[in-house]
Amino acid sequence: MTDTTPATAPRAATFTTYSPATGEPIAEHPVDGPQEVSRAVSRARSAQAGWAELPASRRRDHLLRWKKALAADLDAVARTISEETGKPAGDAALEVVLTLEHLAWAARNAERVLRRRKVGTGLFTVHQRASLVHRPLGVVGVIGPWNYPLYTPMGSIGYALAAGNGVVFKPSELTPGTATLLAGLFDGAVPGHAGLLTTVTGAASTGDALARSGVDKLAFTGSPGTARKVMAVCAETLTPFLAECGGKDAVIVTADADLDAAADAIVWGALSNAGQTCAGVERVYAAREIHAELCERVVKRASALHPGGGADAPYGPMTLPGQVAIVERHVSGAVSAGARALLGGPESVRAPYVAPVVLTGVPEDAAAMTEETFGPVVAVNAVADMDEAVERANASRYALGAAVFCRSGRTGAAIAARLRAGAVSVNSVLGFAAVPALPFGGSQDSGFGRIHGAEGLRAFTAVQSTTVQRFTPPVALTSFAVPAATRERAVRLARSLHRRR
Ligand code: NAD
Repeated sequence: MTDTTPATAPRAATFTTYSPATGEPIAEHPVDGPQEVSRAVSRARSAQAGWAELPASRRRDHLLRWKKALAADLDAVARTISEETGKPAGDAALEVVLTLEHLAWAARNAERVLRRRKVGTGLFTVHQRASLVHRPLGVVGVIGPWNYPLYTPMGSIGYALAAGNGVVFKPSELTPGTATLLAGLFDGAVPGHAGLLTTVTGAASTGDALARSGVDKLAFTGSPGTARKVMAVCAETLTPFLAECGGKDAVIVTADADLDAAADAIVWGALSNAGQTCAGVERVYAAREIHAELCERVVKRASALHPGGGADAPYGPMTLPGQVAIVERHVSGAVSAGARALLGGPESVRAPYVAPVVLTGVPEDAAAMTEETFGPVVAVNAVADMDEAVERANASRYALGAAVFCRSGRTGAAIAARLRAGAVSVNSVLGFAAVPALPFGGSQDSGFGRIHGAEGLRAFTAVQSTTVQRFTPPVALTSFAVPAATRERAVRLARSLHRRR
């Protein structure tokens, strides 16, 4: 049924976004409640029917037009990201570039990944032609975080649309401007499908309304605590749920690794975006023989970095004001528990900025080693050997990403295979995030389910299995008319075959 209610009916209230760098107000956005969310879902449902009926090549062309519009408006989108998160413009531009890569991959590969495929049959089903096809779910709700306000939710939005779904997107209340811009570009580039992608804005109550709105799946990215709450709401209606949550990623450095390359990557992985990266580097386990030398190189590079609000700053302010206290607690707690601050310390926390902090000898049970710090802090601990490194890296309730630095790629890959992580990079950090064909996601407190790649497309589909009977079988076992003796012969035959092979 088509919903004819205008999408722009008056709302009860608005909220203001503020610059994390200056505290100045940026813009007002509506607080969408259950009514607005329900209207958006209903419009998406109407639009989705036509979208799913399009040939896959037409959907691809529409999405590629949207991609081109995003590329053409890269500067404006990056500016909005930068304004809302405080990250430097260059980092924001890189975020848009990564998003473009993923959108292009999803658009170009959806048909190949999701099209009907024949499968083999069995001894008693040779008369059947069997196939499976991945069909869109309907309307997907997406709840996003603020740290990568375009790239992260687009891992669900772009892939869900490419798979033939409609999408209602609830961005973080810190970054609604980026989301509104994204949906506006979609409407401009994909005419005739109004309502297929809608942004609803607001904080927890808007997200809660989306979880209760009857969407066919909810893709959530955020903290594990919020994931638990949203999943409990989804459980009431058995709404499928995908959770991309936090991380406490470890880097392992072997005794023969290229220490300059490792130090360079560790510093970038830990400090870029002010450490506010789900798969950012938070823990390092270095072979004892090279630990001191690695620390020296990490400190040398990190001490040259000074956060600020300018376009040239290596990283900006903490986006979420409340996170500053968490970073301070982790650093102070580690130092009180006996860790040595090689660079900075509790005094590095000067809201809204946090200067780089490099710790060593951090007790493994300190909050800085067990909880997500989400700040520009890295702990570099020494280990006796790679067994200890693997054991410590795996001893976390998070399991998102990891990295290994090692002279031999083959040995690095063997260590990677022992790590409990959804994605591992050898001799780089976050290498997997820029490869659209690679699925991304974790386990335990890092969530479950996968975005990106073929798995990321299939995540927004339901598989339908089909059999088409090609001829009447000589022995029709699915009929009351089959004589008892025929059934018994069939059972004897099957038993004898299965006992032999
Ligand atoms: P958050 O959990 O505070 O909020 C996430 C989203 O949930 C926001 O849009 C928020 O408004 C919404 N929300 C809050 N309460 C809700 C409720 N009761 N019902 C429905 N929605 C609700 O997380 P955040 O601070 O925005 O993001 C930071 C977290 O996200 C970090 O833990 C980070 O590691 C994680 N993250 C994970 C990935 C990943 O892909 N694994 C990517 C980016 C960020």
